[in-house]
Amino acid sequence: MPKLNENFLKLEKNYLFINIAKRINAFIEANPDKKDRIIRMGIGDVTLPIAPCVVEAVKKGTDEMGVKETFKGYEDSGTGYDFLKNAIARYYASFGADVKPSEIRISDGAKSDCGNIVDIFGEDNIVLITDPAYPVYVDSNLMSGRKIIYANCTKENGFCAVPDPSCHTDLIYLCSPNNPTGAAFTTAQLKAWVDYAIANQAIIIYDAAYEAFITEDDVPRSIFEIEGARQCAIEICSLSKTAGFTGMRCGYTVIPEELTVTASDGTPVSISQIWGRRQGSKFNGVAYPIQCGAAAVFSDEGREQIKVNLEYYKENARIIAAALDELGIFYTGGKNSPYIWLECPDGMGSWEFFDLLLTEANVVGTPGAGFGKNGEGFFRLTSFGDRAKTIEAMERIKKLLGK
Ligand SMILES: *Cc1c(COP(=O)(O)O)cnc(C)c1O
Repeated sequence: MPKLNENFLKLEKNYLFINIAKRINAFIEANPDKKDRIIRMGIGDVTLPIAPCVVEAVKKGTDEMGVKETFKGYEDSGTGYDFLKNAIARYYASFGADVKPSEIRISDGAKSDCGNIVDIFGEDNIVLITDPAYPVYVDSNLMSGRKIIYANCTKENGFCAVPDPSCHTDLIYLCSPNNPTGAAFTTAQLKAWVDYAIANQAIIIYDAAYEAFITEDDVPRSIFEIEGARQCAIEICSLSKTAGFTGMRCGYTVIPEELTVTASDGTPVSISQIWGRRQGSKFNGVAYPIQCGAAAVFSDEGREQIKVNLEYYKENARIIAAALDELGIFYTGGKNSPYIWLECPDGMGSWEFFDLLLTEANVVGTPGAGFGKNGEGFFRLTSFGDRAKTIEAMERIKKLLGK
């Protein structure tokens, strides 16, 4: 009988969304008349359709697959077509980050690469993850039995973790703009992490899945806008939230040429090469039509069209933030992010507030406690919903909590 990788038994049951669903179902059962009144603001998925020029590009790519002369089988490199990598490199250049097409690898999304990147690092590394955090970072490291230490994100630091120079780490996970807190690092805050990583000879795994939501000038879109990052960072990004690709599946990972680690025999080893070796064995690339669609996202027309959806979500975020301002409730996010992370009123716990909103306002959000211990007492609302429902939900919350 095969033996199990028993690290999997150490994982928390994915109780967060199961528990949410359970409570909603129980509420509906007890209050069937309220079923259609429920407004869901807990979702972390986009709701607006793919931009027209992207749809056209996918169709065109699909048509090419049906013609012998333009049919494509396995991609030679498996790292993505040059037309897409060139388009992404030009996008980076547009905000001043220096990334070569050869340093970009196209993936089927950020979750896979965030989760798989641990494969190339030894099991005895010390891993630093923020608390709260996107659960993939914690789970993928627990699955391989690594030791995790946590960097606290709190109301005091505006939910932007600060490096602790007295504490050594080897791998650091950062996500900015952040899921779940919506908080985003300023250039100076991110520079402090880059400096810390260099001092520790650590590598930062930087999740930039929400870069397209950034509106403030002082907030970097890429870690490669920061001096020194090329020697200490890997950036993982996605078109999921940027361009509505959650059901299309396309992302990209950037590993600078000069990023190396020293093997135990003293030889420097290129991270890009090792990751390439890993991907070459376990991944065969992204569908050609999807890559065509992804390239369209980075065209001038594509940029204009995705902006329409991004503005829609951002306006929802402004509506949520304005209601919380009126109520005098502390929150982070909303400015550079589709997420608003608020402090539960009157010292309520995350789940207590969840139940209150569900039963009294028929609004569903996500309890912060599900993202780490520092999430207790906080709550996540998302701006990915419908405009009219967002307005209605905030009116109900104002009525419920207004003094
Ligand atoms: C949604 C999200 C992603 C994107 O994952 P995909 O696999 O590209 O859909 C990555 N990181 C964070 C923090 C996210 O919230």
